[in-house]
Amino acid sequence: MGCHFVDKKEFFDSVSHMEEQIGQLYKQLGELKTHLAELIEENHSLQLENEHLRRRLDQSENSSSKRARKNKAESKGLEGQDDKAMDVGEGYDNLARLYQEGFHICNVHFGSPRKDEDCLFCLSFLNKK
Ligand SMILES: [Zn+2]
Repeated sequence: MGCHFVDKKEFFDSVSHMEEQIGQLYKQLGELKTHLAELIEENHSLQLENEHLRRRLDQSENSSSKRARKNKAESKGLEGQDDKAMDVGEGYDNLARLYQEGFHICNVHFGSPRKDEDCLFCLSFLNKK
């Protein structure tokens, strides 16, 4: 009888011990979930930062290659027409921006500063597109 009681008590103890362990595992699971959420959030903000930096890099690469082309066009004079052909391939938007920034995009004066004057050659080129 006494023995039987001890068995019952041991069984009860081991069940409570399991319950305690399950409780601890549950707590650890919760902590892991919190940690995972933090990692996902961190990953997300790193991705955003990465995209942002990549855009900045693209922009600075575009503007520096544009400057290089402009200088080349200026130093080569009429041969700058070759560079114009390259720009057409790169897209109308780049040319329109270049014009907005105050440079000729026409065959005649490509790459040289407009000095805030509209150029009919440039405008007809832009309208053609
Ligand atoms: Zn022009």
